[in-house]
Amino acid sequence: SGDDLKRRLTILGSTGSIGTSTLDVIERLGGRDRFEIAALTGNGNIPLLAEQARRIGAELAVTADEDRYGELKDALSGSGIEVAAGRSGLTEAAERDAGWVMAAIVGNAGLGPTLAAARRGADIALANKECLVSAGSLFIDAVAEGGGRLLPVDSEHNAIFQVLENDQRHAVERIVLTASGGPFRTKTLDEMRHVTADVARAHPNWSMGLKISIDSASMFNKALEMIEARHLFRLRPEQIEVIVHPQSVVHSMVGYTDGSVLAQLGCPDMRTAIGYALSYPKRCDLPVERLDFARLARLDFEAPDEVRFPAIKLARRAMEEGGVQGAVLNGAKETALDAFIKGRIGFLAMAEIVEKVMDGLAGLPAATSMDDVFAADERARRAAAEMIR
Ligand code: NAD
Ligand code: MG
Repeated sequence: SGDDLKRRLTILGSTGSIGTSTLDVIERLGGRDRFEIAALTGNGNIPLLAEQARRIGAELAVTADEDRYGELKDALSGSGIEVAAGRSGLTEAAERDAGWVMAAIVGNAGLGPTLAAARRGADIALANKECLVSAGSLFIDAVAEGGGRLLPVDSEHNAIFQVLENDQRHAVERIVLTASGGPFRTKTLDEMRHVTADVARAHPNWSMGLKISIDSASMFNKALEMIEARHLFRLRPEQIEVIVHPQSVVHSMVGYTDGSVLAQLGCPDMRTAIGYALSYPKRCDLPVERLDFARLARLDFEAPDEVRFPAIKLARRAMEEGGVQGAVLNGAKETALDAFIKGRIGFLAMAEIVEKVMDGLAGLPAATSMDDVFAADERARRAAAEMIR
């Protein structure tokens, strides 16, 4: 028995918010007794990556940062753990024979490694929404051709995945993505104009990485999630609704043709979605906080304000225009977000830049290969960088 029964897993982006929660779930479900870790990857936080790799007994540890190879090698000396770095190292990690891969690298940097894992047929636990925003159906096709399963980890999409029965897909009328509204839900445009990254990153309900926290404040996170949902569940743009729900208890809903609406509820803790993706089609025991409905007393809902949060309407536009506008929206958004984090542009300028880049690159044909996706992403980044300058 023993080793033969162990599941082999890889975590791309193990040092981030989703990555550390994934390791926490794995350890609570038996750790090294039940799982074998083929590879862990990180970027700048070498001490954490080395500590994780030793603790869980990973075969391979990879830093995306080539300049940190020596540092990682030193930190793992004597451990027997293999070390690699850079783009080729990430590919090596993705291609190791793990049956389940958590895709938790942030941003478009996650696309290449996640695709490599998908193409060799691993089950992909997808936190990295940018894969679907940029590559759309090409990414879905790569997973299908590889033969693995696509297990959504983003809490909204995981909620929909939980309540969407395969043999009822034909009867799905709409999906309703819930949004917390972020820290600026009740702020005016003037109040948002001068906020800094430190203010914008303070999410009311979820504890997440820096970039997704700021994307939640601008609602670009919801914009990405609309496009993500569209590809994941093969929906028409008009079937995707967004509703602001400040408590973040209803994680999303599916509306059927008979008028029924099914929802998945829980406390805002990503470990539930990660555990579901790891245990699917079964469920596991997790010590996440339980909902106390009496204490909760009420659930609030309100329509999103697309004037204060134009990201929502930009997502709709990207879906309607099709082509490579998903990659364009994401590439421009990542460039604008980096500039906002560095204090080079204001909070509201992010959406203005994305809109102008989408205007400038409208009408590009749909991608027929990943090269087209990377080219559109690159053009959007260059156009955004020029505007910022
Ligand atoms: P994070 O910033 O906390 O972690 C990102 C991880 O990616 C780290 O391991 C980091 O080392 C690695 N990384 C950073 N830059 C890299 C690069 N250039 N090349 C390779 N690796 C790099 O981010 P996060 O909050 O854990 O989010 C990860 C992904 O999951 C994002 O796509 C995000 O949108 C998505 N997501 C996160 C949450 C959440 O609760 N945090 C929820 C839903 C979806
Ligand atoms: Mg989400």
